[in-house]
Amino acid sequence: MKRVLPLVERLHGAVDTLAAPIEAAHAGVLRCGRGCAGCCLDGLTVFAIEAARIEANYSELLQNGVPGPEGGCAFLDGEGACRIYDVRPYVCRTQGLPLRWLEDDPEGIVEVRDICPENAELPLEELPAEACFLLGPVEEKLRAIAALAPEGDVRVPLRSLFVAR
Ligand code: SF4
Repeated sequence: MKRVLPLVERLHGAVDTLAAPIEAAHAGVLRCGRGCAGCCLDGLTVFAIEAARIEANYSELLQNGVPGPEGGCAFLDGEGACRIYDVRPYVCRTQGLPLRWLEDDPEGIVEVRDICPENAELPLEELPAEACFLLGPVEEKLRAIAALAPEGDVRVPLRSLFVAR
């Protein structure tokens, strides 16, 4: 597992680099920020390689910390902020942004878009493609990295990382 952790770190960094200009393009409209935890749902699962990154950096929290109450992500603190923000998994790095992805349809390949209801002020369907985060390529890379680890594509519930759960 140790040898794939740098790959996970690099991929998370690349996601932040891709997300930054999209975030900047919508600055002032996106309502995301510290304390907004609408996307931080309970029951989120991640690949074991992303769980390992959290374990490698927050062992003290996982050993001795108390998970947040059920109904929200176990990593939320009392003020709705993420306690592992710097190593949060991929799915958390794009939440709130306008998202787009491609789907198979009887008519052919179609583009689908979505955004958090808190950011519904953005004219989602009129945005140029580059103003939305494209889902798909990062997931593929993440899956490829996961395949290099002994655990493969096993999914781990975030809450299960706490010893005192
Ligand atoms: S890991 Fe952090 S950002 Fe991700 S859902 Fe949990 S609290 Fe939210």
